[in-house]
Amino acid sequence: MPPILRKILRIFAGIFALMGLIFLAVGIWTGERQYTILKSWPTVEAEVTKSEVRQHLDSGSGSSASTVMYQTFVEFRYTVNGKEYLTPSDAGYSTSSYPQMKRLADKFPPGTRHAIKYNPVDPNDIYFNAEYSFGFFLLPVVFGGVGLIFCIVAIVVLVVASRLGRTRQCPSCGGAVEAGQHFCPNCAAVLPTAA
Ligand SMILES: [Zn+2]
Repeated sequence: MPPILRKILRIFAGIFALMGLIFLAVGIWTGERQYTILKSWPTVEAEVTKSEVRQHLDSGSGSSASTVMYQTFVEFRYTVNGKEYLTPSDAGYSTSSYPQMKRLADKFPPGTRHAIKYNPVDPNDIYFNAEYSFGFFLLPVVFGGVGLIFCIVAIVVLVVASRLGRTRQCPSCGGAVEAGQHFCPNCAAVLPTAA
């Protein structure tokens, strides 16, 4: 393999490794945040004042048909440190499955009371569906998964590049010879043409 091609493959692998590590870092960061919410945010009893499934169009990337996405919105009334809060909140993610979001909304009909999590620094920041579920950890799972795939691609490309670019040896002096060279750079012996 010509050295220039090996160089291109190395740059390609480097870009993929960098992107993979960034995605992995974002995955860990968001995962850690969700975990902190579950572990350390206080719980307060809140009353549902509004509950609905809203839809929006996800235009995707380009000209292809857009998908209808659904998300559950719930509004809560609760009291923290003697102060009353009225805060709208959402599921934190959308899905193309209406029944999935309807099921979530049906768990929170207006007038019912639930234990919700609030940010101790800002009680307007709440989560009503904080749990060890795929939906709650969707972002970290997606970012971590993409990051892992990019890193694997980078490793595979590096391994292939080093296999293909393995240097030959000059048959007369044993010195390293690059593919494509016709004469040994050490002893000037004529090299076999087979690369
Ligand atoms: Zn030689």
